[in-house]
Amino acid sequence: MDPLDIMTNLERVAPYYQAIFSADTQEVIGYEVLGRYQMENGDVTSLGHFFRDTTVPSEYQLEVDKVIINKALTYYTDNDCELKLFFNQSADLLLEDQGESLLELFLSYVPKGLKMENIVIEMDEHSSKEDNEYLQHLFNYYKTYGIQVSISNIGDAGGNMDRIGRLNPNILKVNLEILRQSYEVAAHQDILHSLAVLSRKIGAALLYENVEASFQLQYAWRNGGRYYQGFYLHKPGSEFIEKNYAKKILIEKFQQFIRYEKRKLHAIHQFSGMLQNRIQPLLSKKTEMEELDGWLQSIAEEMSEISFRMYVCDENGFQLSSNMLKDNGKWRTLPSSKGKNWSWRPYFLEHVMKMSMERKGILSDIYSDIETGETVRTYSCLIAQGKFLYIDIAYDYLYENQDLL
Ligand code: CA
Repeated sequence: MDPLDIMTNLERVAPYYQAIFSADTQEVIGYEVLGRYQMENGDVTSLGHFFRDTTVPSEYQLEVDKVIINKALTYYTDNDCELKLFFNQSADLLLEDQGESLLELFLSYVPKGLKMENIVIEMDEHSSKEDNEYLQHLFNYYKTYGIQVSISNIGDAGGNMDRIGRLNPNILKVNLEILRQSYEVAAHQDILHSLAVLSRKIGAALLYENVEASFQLQYAWRNGGRYYQGFYLHKPGSEFIEKNYAKKILIEKFQQFIRYEKRKLHAIHQFSGMLQNRIQPLLSKKTEMEELDGWLQSIAEEMSEISFRMYVCDENGFQLSSNMLKDNGKWRTLPSSKGKNWSWRPYFLEHVMKMSMERKGILSDIYSDIETGETVRTYSCLIAQGKFLYIDIAYDYLYENQDLL
């Protein structure tokens, strides 16, 4: 669409609202304000392209944005709304006047009932070419008025964690578009998981957007999502909606997710207990324990349908035995792994401590094996003073026991 057409028909520019839901109350907590343009044939089209197009003069963009904000805040205050309003802003446009005109615009609605703490500035992670420092300064300035800051679109490339951390946003908005199919969850799990960790570290709430299917909502729920937004729950419209608009479906879905999660936890617990029971009698072969490789060989047949690799380490992670490796259905001993150290692995020492104190085996989370690239879990347990057995569970076994995946 020609930008000039928009500029000469500003009365056709209008805000649309997409609701944002909270996990704890299952209610609408606010709306993202989206720019729309009503065409002559009555169709309503997004102004997203107009705002992202760098060939459109910035005065045009600022002017249209002002129309949208004015209309939204008039509607908001006329309806005595007390929820949050998220406004998309580009860092470069905002920094043209250090955010002053936008701030004044917001402040002019305070006498009409607007509370500044209900304003959220939403900024695209990639929108700024400027030095981060100016942006950081601007955000701090806005925060002194109570305005909140949200950084969006960090899901796709992972963004720059360090940079995001320094901007210290109130909300991190993660785009779930990358999870188009449920099988893609595994591929993006790590980057999305690290965003969940980051948000927890910097004390920002996680908002998952573009939730368009049940499995995406489930992902968001499992991964620290406090807020949700997307077609699955609500399509943008020209009016605000009931607070309880999606409450029924959210409660129903949460109960379904919880049942699923509990079933998995139960399966993990059962499996650990079964392995524990299977290993217990093998520990009494005291003489063979002196010679660990021999002992591993003696228990290998017992573990054949479950494991593809086993070894023994001491409490500092030094490998005491060779690797017992199943190769084409036959167990082989690989002495070259003897003496390697595994203490640098995530959770290694934490798990050793737990196994020693609680005298119980531990089933690890799901991860990609460094050598085979396969999806595995590792079961580990104390077998004698200062000796810990590690059993890598084969993917085939996990696959046949779906609740373990
Ligand atoms: Ca947005």
